[in-house]
Amino acid sequence: MLYDAAIIGSGPAGVSAALNLRIHDKRFIWIGKKTLSDKLSRAERVSNYPGFTDVPGAELNAAFLRQVQAMGIEITEAMVNSIMPMGDRYALMAGPDFYEARTLILTTGVNQSGGLEGEADYVGRGISYCATCDGGLYRGRTVAVLCGNARFEHEAAFLAGLAGKLYFFPYYKNPGVAGENVIAPASRPVAVEGDARVTGLRLNTGESLPVDGVFCLRDAIALNTLLPGLATEDGHIVVDRAMATNLPGVFAAGDCTGRPYQYAKAVGEGNVAAHSVIDYLG
Ligand SMILES: Cc1cc2nc3c(=O)[nH]c(=O)nc-3n(C[C@H](O)[C@H](O)[C@H](O)COP(=O)(O)OP(=O)(O)OC[C@H]3O[C@@H](n4cnc5c(N)ncnc54)[C@H](O)[C@@H]3O)c2cc1C
Repeated sequence: MLYDAAIIGSGPAGVSAALNLRIHDKRFIWIGKKTLSDKLSRAERVSNYPGFTDVPGAELNAAFLRQVQAMGIEITEAMVNSIMPMGDRYALMAGPDFYEARTLILTTGVNQSGGLEGEADYVGRGISYCATCDGGLYRGRTVAVLCGNARFEHEAAFLAGLAGKLYFFPYYKNPGVAGENVIAPASRPVAVEGDARVTGLRLNTGESLPVDGVFCLRDAIALNTLLPGLATEDGHIVVDRAMATNLPGVFAAGDCTGRPYQYAKAVGEGNVAAHSVIDYLG
């Protein structure tokens, strides 16, 4: 199916965009998390969001979720790994699934854990964001998994079942991936090393760790690797007042467009982006 729009990301910016597209009867797919945003649900207390006084983030998240459900809006639980322009539409890969949309609203937030030096240069040449899609290429080989969130552990476990050796780098407490072929180094990767393909990781100890592939399982993917040609500045998407990016039919909202990183800004920009999509579709 060709959608009118695809919203990528389910934080406050994505919520606001989705509500407005639904009210205007647009056919859209919304890819993110069914539980919306970890950043919102983890905030201890929010004091600067109109209508709520000192509300725990989890409560605000639950209020957003109730509204989304009351309007019958579906969230497709997945990570978009790559987006390709295809003439009058965009093709999105989310794990093994493929979607097409005439317009995009990027509401991916900011990835505070950041990418590795050299990571963008090796996408498709040893750097992967999807265990299901690329795991089979590394059967019996040595891979590293950079796991940003415990919810990706099933993907790491799947890779451990395929790989000869797996170096596991969790970026959270109490990780739960183990196995005879799983090694959890005490050091941290800082850069990708390679020639035509990835050959290893440089660690913060200065050592090189030889690997055949690196799986980066994070809550967000670096913007310049997600959508080639998207203009960014200082790690944020460049937008105008209509939240339009440099690419036709592509709009962005929320933290991914720049500071201040605030709920009210994200919601406002999501609203503007949705209305820009509606205008663009005509
Ligand atoms: C602890 C904490 C407390 C905070 N307190 C406050 C506060 O009191 N007041 C305030 O105004 N702000 C606060 N903030 C900031 C606020 O959380 C952010 O400004 C806000 O969440 C931004 O919303 P967003 O929709 O742009 O992005 P996010 O909320 O970050 O949501 C982005 C979503 O997109 C998803 N995503 C990313 N990439 C992809 C992809 N490729 N495919 C599919 N999904 C993807 C992510 O998983 C995430 O669910 C706080 C932040 C933190 C961390």
